[in-house]
Amino acid sequence: MRFGSYDCFTVVMDSFLLDGGAMFGVVPKNLWGKKIPADDSNRIPMLARSLIIRGNDKVILVDTGIGDKLPDKLRKIYDIQTPVCTMADRLAPSGLTVNDVTHVVLTHLHFDHAGGSTSMIDGKILPTFPNATYYIQQAQWELALNPSIRDRSSYIPDNFMPLLEEGVLNIVNGPVDDFFDGIDLIVTDGHSEGQQHLLVKGEQTSLFFCADLIPTSAHIPTAWHMSYDNHPLNIMDEKDQLLSRAIAEHWILCFEHDPVVSAASVREVKGRTVMDRAVDL
Ligand SMILES: [Zn+2]
Repeated sequence: MRFGSYDCFTVVMDSFLLDGGAMFGVVPKNLWGKKIPADDSNRIPMLARSLIIRGNDKVILVDTGIGDKLPDKLRKIYDIQTPVCTMADRLAPSGLTVNDVTHVVLTHLHFDHAGGSTSMIDGKILPTFPNATYYIQQAQWELALNPSIRDRSSYIPDNFMPLLEEGVLNIVNGPVDDFFDGIDLIVTDGHSEGQQHLLVKGEQTSLFFCADLIPTSAHIPTAWHMSYDNHPLNIMDEKDQLLSRAIAEHWILCFEHDPVVSAASVREVKGRTVMDRAVDL
């Protein structure tokens, strides 16, 4: 789908299962279970879906999925369904190779967003995309280097330290309008400090990559957020503000973890924001 001067489409990097209760925080199961049904172990299906933005001589990849370095023990814990395969295999259906990617924007460094950033190449862990510059927010970088006990297991240094060592990491401080031509960089802190989002601006509609601010279409209501969020009250404020803009400016929201809906528009019904129309992106 075209936004401004860019073609935008998604690539599914991984599928896995997560505890449904953890994904919906304080929301009772008899409500969230109707949106995304759980299995016998209370787990719900999740995708790691990346966004590709192509145009103006750039191929921008937003997030890189879990990748192929995760130890078997962790693959089991997260019930990763995708067979171990390379990034080249994952990109193949899109007609792209790892050499084509010019920019990698990492929303944050949790392993299900940044794991594919590096790969084992000739016995050494190196950047997966040899011609790309990688981008992360300063606050997120600092958190990844000194995580709390709560989210320590989500930060795996092999996913991001090689980017620094190889000199391909660009650390950005705060939001930037027109970060790329026609694309704004927006920052939220509620899920994890310094989570960054791209807004690809078009004339009629714009595309916003939600990352873990709104991980699935079921997370659009204000109080429907994850137990994994570091600052629940902040994330609710941030969601309300951005969803108001989404309605006023006719954004399409792209959902990184939704098992079915890759993107959707939203509208207001009786003071609440609801999904309007699913969009296949
Ligand atoms: Zn996260």
